[in-house]
Amino acid sequence: MSLNTTLTKIHESAALAGRQDDSVKLIAVSKVQPIERVRAVLDQGHRLFGENKVQEAAAKWPDLRKEYGPIEVHLLGPLQSNKTRQAMELFDAIHSLDRPKLANSIARIAQELGHCPKLFVQINTGNEPQKAGISPSEADAFIQECRALELPVIGLMCIPPAQEDPAPHFDLLSTIAERNGLAELSMGMSGDFEQAVAAGATYVRVGSAIFGARDYGATSSG
Ligand SMILES: *Cc1c(COP(=O)(O)O)cnc(C)c1O
Repeated sequence: MSLNTTLTKIHESAALAGRQDDSVKLIAVSKVQPIERVRAVLDQGHRLFGENKVQEAAAKWPDLRKEYGPIEVHLLGPLQSNKTRQAMELFDAIHSLDRPKLANSIARIAQELGHCPKLFVQINTGNEPQKAGISPSEADAFIQECRALELPVIGLMCIPPAQEDPAPHFDLLSTIAERNGLAELSMGMSGDFEQAVAAGATYVRVGSAIFGARDYGATSSG
């Protein structure tokens, strides 16, 4: 696949679902990809990217922003407390707000910095013990807690269990967002972004379908 194929499929899925084209944004997930592949997508005019790790993004995007101009970069992976400040300076959005301690430290640092990235609360829709995210039963209370801290939470994010039909997970995320008045849904990856668009995704996070398979052996940052 490629950037254009992916965009076409998003537009087709949106049309089928009776949705406006511009209601779905494509985050090109560039983690671990060789820089030539990232440049090729930038050269095609794409300006919205996703990364999983603060260190890897810090080594890449400040330079590319100097060269290409404004680029929106979102953090998709788990955020360690000791990297919160650096992440808030680097990213336009954070999709992995997943615990009260992190919410508190983001709120404190936002005061100091005078700005805050857009935030998505990550929901562990499958209640998987090894996976990050707030459990669905605790989502409403956590979102309220974030609002009390005046955090700019704009939506929810999920990564459905690998071996399951993602559709019920997308629906659950949508239900939780709706009852909390949140407009943005970050859901859908290479294998299921069309289903996610059908279920109302406003941000799909697509890596390998755009860039090709990731070669984890080729990088030390993992
Ligand atoms: C890597 C990753 C993606 C993209 O995965 P692909 O299957 O390559 O599309 C999306 N979201 C998150 C949170 C990821 O870590």
